[in-house]
Amino acid sequence: MTIPTTQKAIVVETTGGPEVLQLKTDYPVPQPSDGQVLIKNKVSGINYIDTYFRTGLYPSSKPEVLGREAAGTIVALGPGANPYGFKVGDRVVWMKTASYAEYSAVPDRDVVKIPDGVSDEEAVASFLSGLTILTLVKETYAVKKGDTVLVHAAAGGAGFLMVQVLKLLGAIVIGTAGGPEKVALVKSLGADHVIDYRSEEGKDWVKRVKEITNGRGVDVVYDSVGKDTWEGSLDAVKRKGFIAWFGNASGPVPAFPIQRLTPKCVTIARPSMLGYVETREEYEGYVKELFDLLSSGKLKVKIHKVYPLEDVQQAHKDLEGRKTTGKLLLAP
Ligand code: NDP
Repeated sequence: MTIPTTQKAIVVETTGGPEVLQLKTDYPVPQPSDGQVLIKNKVSGINYIDTYFRTGLYPSSKPEVLGREAAGTIVALGPGANPYGFKVGDRVVWMKTASYAEYSAVPDRDVVKIPDGVSDEEAVASFLSGLTILTLVKETYAVKKGDTVLVHAAAGGAGFLMVQVLKLLGAIVIGTAGGPEKVALVKSLGADHVIDYRSEEGKDWVKRVKEITNGRGVDVVYDSVGKDTWEGSLDAVKRKGFIAWFGNASGPVPAFPIQRLTPKCVTIARPSMLGYVETREEYEGYVKELFDLLSSGKLKVKIHKVYPLEDVQQAHKDLEGRKTTGKLLLAP
């Protein structure tokens, strides 16, 4: 197969709103260097974290090709050792940087083969989000059967997977979601209680959580919404409970006095999935678990929409406008 010298890619030159996502049609195709493979991307995942790099909430050097994961086919191997035995033609999924493009040169350490029976779309729709969820429920706080767990944004890319995994672990799940359609979706996943935190009745979601738990509060809160929910999460957790703040969909959790944790002896965490999959062994362990869940049909993905590369601005508007459920994909 002939590899072109230029390609289509979405480049961010300065931080800002969705309008800074620029389609380049003559962006250089990277050469795989030592320890890298060149991948022709079929579908790229759109994650909320992409918006943080776009706005500058998370720093990164610009110009930057956005995107942190994709699935596709290996089209060339860089020079040097090939410790994972990749071949041209392998169907793979990967997590690194610069995935909003037709081609990406990726360190082989960050690439894994997709097993038969799992489609490229399923692999990427569950990859970064699914690894996040698995590490959160196993390591950040090890969820046990019978734990009562509050999950914010339960209809989103990560939330949709989290509710299913928590039910498999035997947890009692209370989900929050904005709007009746999202509520119905989260219920369909087996969540025990779903609160529409944007409705008049659900606005006081802390009160609802206390009613549901007979005043006790939940064992653990997984909060990816951040600024708008962090304080309610502190209120909704039980004495000796645990809160994992793992995202900033509404903005970051502000600095607060640590003494706020004292009255209920609350434990908190602000984890990053990448910190749990730093070694290849850790990475492969979680990937295997994820693929086993997908292959066995125990974990389902939901793809909100596959956007053509040209529509990336709209995709970011939809994600930040809370208009989406499940995962958004981009087809280069
Ligand atoms: P989602 O599909 O979950 O989209 C974000 C959702 O957050 C929205 O659909 C919306 O759902 C909810 N939301 C609440 N308040 C707001 C607001 N003010 N603006 C926009 N959305 C809001 O995104 P992802 O699945 O990609 O990511 C989910 C979260 O997980 C993000 O916060 C992300 O940063 C975090 N994450 C963290 C990782 C880590 O390692 N720490 C790794 C991966 C993801 P609703 O309308 O129902 O409220």
